[in-house]
Amino acid sequence: MFRNTTGAIRPTLKKLGFSNYSEYLSSDHWKNLRKRFYESKECTRDDFGFPRCCACGITGVTLDLHHKSYDMLGNEPLDHLCLLCSSCHGAVHSMGGNVWYATEQLIEEKSDRHSFMRKLIQLIADHFYNVPALKTGIRNLLDNK
Ligand SMILES: [Zn+2]
Ligand SMILES: [Zn+2]
Repeated sequence: MFRNTTGAIRPTLKKLGFSNYSEYLSSDHWKNLRKRFYESKECTRDDFGFPRCCACGITGVTLDLHHKSYDMLGNEPLDHLCLLCSSCHGAVHSMGGNVWYATEQLIEEKSDRHSFMRKLIQLIADHFYNVPALKTGIRNLLDNK
């Protein structure tokens, strides 16, 4: 839970009968929701089926179930949630402003970098023995061709 959102959701929590957010996170509602999330297609996974951060794609670390919006707290649609590693989670909440927008921004930013790296690795694999072609390929990639 991050400081800048605690105050804003307090009235909602109270209405739901929780005195604070950690009480909410230990509720049966949240436990069931987590379970449903992990069983749903909203749960981002790698090629081996391991859950991964929806922004940077990392697996094998502790992932937080993040609220892109607190508007439906207590009755969250699964697409209001996503998995974030602690680094991306911290980044989203330090961006300020609308959390949903911040989350989408980070996902977009990270996935661009992600796909660039994937293309670069593919290029190196394809042209490992052909340095001139590799150089051209990298130049094109940097020029976004
Ligand atoms: Zn991440
Ligand atoms: Zn969060």
